[in-house]
Amino acid sequence: MENPYLCPACGTNRSRFNLIQQKVRPVKKDPQTGKIVAEVDASDPLQAPYRGEELRVQCGVCGVVDAEQRFVKTARRGTGELSI
Ligand SMILES: [Zn+2]
Repeated sequence: MENPYLCPACGTNRSRFNLIQQKVRPVKKDPQTGKIVAEVDASDPLQAPYRGEELRVQCGVCGVVDAEQRFVKTARRGTGELSI
């Protein structure tokens, strides 16, 4: 989060961002009603653990959402890509 960002879509924004924390909540739902019937322990071997990004970032100018790493890598390259 302390790395400089550059939006990979608009290629100009380096200062305005929405940080989106991914909060994982493993649950069991009733298949018919959709009601959450249990919280599942993270160590439950029957449930695949979430392995996605912890943090996603939205550009505060053009609104594109992507993985934080894409914003960091674009900033390191020094230029945005014009296509997504
Ligand atoms: Zn942008």
